[in-house]
Amino acid sequence: MPKQEIHPGSQAMAGGSHGIMARTYFRVKPFIPRSFRWVLRRIRIPRILKRSAGVWPIDETAAEKPLHWKGWPDGKQFALVLTHDVESQGGLANCRNLGELEMEFGFRSSYNLIPEGSYEDPVELREWLVENGFEVGVHDLNHDGHLYESRESFAEKAKSINSYLAKWNAVGFRSGFMLRQLDWLHDLNVLYDTSTFDTDPFEPQPEGSQTIFPFHVKPSDNIKGSGYIELSYTLPQDSTLFLLLREKSPDIWMRKLDWIARNGGLALVNIHPDYIDFHGEGNHSSTYPSSHVKEFLQYIRSEYDGAYWNPLARDLAFWYHNQSPTD
Ligand SMILES: [Zn+2]
Repeated sequence: MPKQEIHPGSQAMAGGSHGIMARTYFRVKPFIPRSFRWVLRRIRIPRILKRSAGVWPIDETAAEKPLHWKGWPDGKQFALVLTHDVESQGGLANCRNLGELEMEFGFRSSYNLIPEGSYEDPVELREWLVENGFEVGVHDLNHDGHLYESRESFAEKAKSINSYLAKWNAVGFRSGFMLRQLDWLHDLNVLYDTSTFDTDPFEPQPEGSQTIFPFHVKPSDNIKGSGYIELSYTLPQDSTLFLLLREKSPDIWMRKLDWIARNGGLALVNIHPDYIDFHGEGNHSSTYPSSHVKEFLQYIRSEYDGAYWNPLARDLAFWYHNQSPTD
């Protein structure tokens, strides 16, 4: 009996911890100014691009359909899930603008909030999101890069995360910096996790899930529970495209979306409200114009109207949970 649906990259992705370089980086990170952090990250780009030629932004092997795959509800060609990690006070201030932009094009999305980070629990914003059909999820606990430092400390932190999941009526989780130990996440009372990606060599734990489809992560025999659904993000993060690579248009998003649509997969993107400049006055080393997001949403509507399913992440996970073979 398989413990976990098999995907080419899932074993590599689930095991191991982030390396010593990453751990050192997270220790010194609080002392490095944000703009200089981008400079440091940009230094590594040429080497990463060279190493990942042919597997980023598209890894062709990720298009393989899971066993028993029956397609999306109502015969839709592909699924589209929009998610947002809110990193700072500045990001909180942009959430309504972003939500309104999404609603203008008929989309809904999931906003992942940090419970014990640099901002207070935004009660009013959470209410506004829920009233307008958006989802609230939990993003890490402290967002300091130390969530997975030891098995024992994670078990303690999981208790706190579970209390926020209950308080916020949330069922979804994403780690800070896409760090992960998929087999530890069984400690969380979640329906789904979205800390993985099909391909993203720019992250500190760069192993991809190599799939553009959801999959079930089941616990080993000595752990109780039925596991959770893993939703990998499959479009590059906005921060990677516009801040790290300094792309001047959302062209890479569109190209990858076209490929996912052709292959009938899940297009899942993580857009940070923190980095969007809605008023044309931002610092362009740490923000990008909101027109990039608008152009992308417009493109989805004009090219694929009627062809995609745009559920909240939790609704897609719930649907897949009910589809997923029980083996
Ligand atoms: Zn984050």
